[in-house]
Amino acid sequence: MKIAIVGAGIGGLTAAALLKEQGHEIKVFEKNREIAEAGAGIGIGGNVIDKLGKHDLAKGIKNIGQIIDVMEVLDEKANVLSKAKLKKNTVNLTMTRQGLLDVIKSYVPDSIIYTNHKVKRVDSGALKVELHFAEHQSEAFDLCIGADGLHSHIRSTIAPNSKILYQGYTVFRGLVEDVDIKPDNIAKEYWSSKGRVGIVPLLNNKAYWFISINAKAQDARLKSYGKPHLQARFNHFPNEVRQILDKQSETEILLHDMYDLQPLKTFVYQRVILLGDAAHATTPNMGQGAGQAMEDAIVLANCLGAYPFEEALQKYDKLRVKHTKKVIKKSRKIGKLAQLSNRPLIALRNKIAKLIPNQLVSRQTKFLYKAKSK
Ligand SMILES: Cc1cc2nc3c(=O)[nH]c(=O)nc-3n(C[C@H](O)[C@H](O)[C@H](O)COP(=O)(O)OP(=O)(O)OC[C@H]3O[C@@H](n4cnc5c(N)ncnc54)[C@H](O)[C@@H]3O)c2cc1C
Repeated sequence: MKIAIVGAGIGGLTAAALLKEQGHEIKVFEKNREIAEAGAGIGIGGNVIDKLGKHDLAKGIKNIGQIIDVMEVLDEKANVLSKAKLKKNTVNLTMTRQGLLDVIKSYVPDSIIYTNHKVKRVDSGALKVELHFAEHQSEAFDLCIGADGLHSHIRSTIAPNSKILYQGYTVFRGLVEDVDIKPDNIAKEYWSSKGRVGIVPLLNNKAYWFISINAKAQDARLKSYGKPHLQARFNHFPNEVRQILDKQSETEILLHDMYDLQPLKTFVYQRVILLGDAAHATTPNMGQGAGQAMEDAIVLANCLGAYPFEEALQKYDKLRVKHTKKVIKKSRKIGKLAQLSNRPLIALRNKIAKLIPNQLVSRQTKFLYKAKSK
């Protein structure tokens, strides 16, 4: 089958690697000149590693990953609000984003990746789909996979009523080196009325951090915030936070407003299907966006390998739409709780959080492991 994949992000490249192995003729179209990830670090949940099973890609990801066993939420004075042990016998990993993308890309032949190919239009019929580019000749395919991210052009063409929703906060991110985080198997979030600070250990004495602050969409005031502003704002936070911000270079701080996608009813539109953020962009509160994009690719490849074409697409839809809707909704809820800024509500939230048994907190992510992959 001749398959076009639009977007060489984590989702598109995972799909390319797995579908190429099945013998399909694959072309990946990427609008940018280079395959690169804007972003500091990323967590890939054990649910993804489990679903990759014995595939070599799982080994590749494990090689670059720092193992994380515990997720801790604290207040700004470092009192523990909750401590969730991640599922036993699974490997939750953190790594640099570029590292992850490079590993996935190493499973995709360079010859099938077409950079500088911006898809402008897609015409889907019952049997074929035609892709039109900004500066290249149009081409017909049996199937087009729209893996073109949160602001997916493919999605807005085939599902014009789809909506991305701003969630009310913006996130600063950075990557630091030469830090000595002990123990290195715990990812932490400090929740406060001024915002939320996350610190995540990576291999080789690196770490990534994020700070999410309530703001209007495209808030010009926040855009002007640099390192000194963040340092001042979180100066009363525990040492660990101040040390990480000290290490951050002034110029390499990323800033993105947080959106998710109003869940879609289907990811399949004749010969065009959606995958990853294009299909189900979610807030980062569960650390699952890229993981779910990879799971889409795994499930799609499994279905195409196991069922006749039409049935495979229906199965993909059935397995992914409902599951990813749950991720979007849960993640949105966590974001609302974590971003509370009203002090009495924060005090109540923290009190309740301390009363909830850690086991119950851990159980919240159990559904991620139960999702079927075929
Ligand atoms: C602050 C933050 C923290 C996060 N942390 C985590 C985490 O810890 N774990 C996790 O699993 N997820 C996390 N995520 C989510 C994760 O980053 C995304 O879900 C993931 O990158 C989506 O991958 P994708 O391949 O679907 O889309 P993208 O990575 O957005 O890739 C889309 C690609 O399509 C290309 N493209 C777009 N339009 C066109 C076009 N018209 N023609 C050709 N190419 C096009 C783009 O250039 C891009 O390369 C986080 C997100 C944020 C914002």
